[in-house]
Amino acid sequence: MNFRNKLYRFMQGRNGVDALSKFLNRLSFVFLILAIICSILAIGFASHAMKAAVVFRILYFVLYAIGFALLIWCNIRIFSRNVAKRQKENTRFLYQKQKVRRFFENKKQEWKDRKTYRYFKCPKCGQRMRAPRSKGKIRVTCRNCANVFLTKT
Ligand SMILES: [Zn+2]
Repeated sequence: MNFRNKLYRFMQGRNGVDALSKFLNRLSFVFLILAIICSILAIGFASHAMKAAVVFRILYFVLYAIGFALLIWCNIRIFSRNVAKRQKENTRFLYQKQKVRRFFENKKQEWKDRKTYRYFKCPKCGQRMRAPRSKGKIRVTCRNCANVFLTKT
């Protein structure tokens, strides 16, 4: 039996790599890189600024610990046999990721339209809406919850 088959056998019934694990892996990499930078700075400051050197040394340990913990978490998820639970976590992660992405897309759109439209939210349900600018005070009916309110444009 070659290595590929052995690995396939070993991974059967386990969660494997998913989006959340990939994210944790990248995040751990970022923390480890930052830890290395802090460690270099600590060495650099050691000769003339002891306090700064100590701060960077502590930062190094903290960042390293976080990065290492993320890497362990990532691997625990990959090799986990509780696939249902891991898939649930992954779905939740993807949902949050989508929310973050939408937030930035909205901000980008608002910035692009800043001269022609004013964006606002329904005070009752938070529904996002927009109205053409410089129309003075307008009465808005929320398309989601039918709440009526006044807003400046
Ligand atoms: Zn509403």
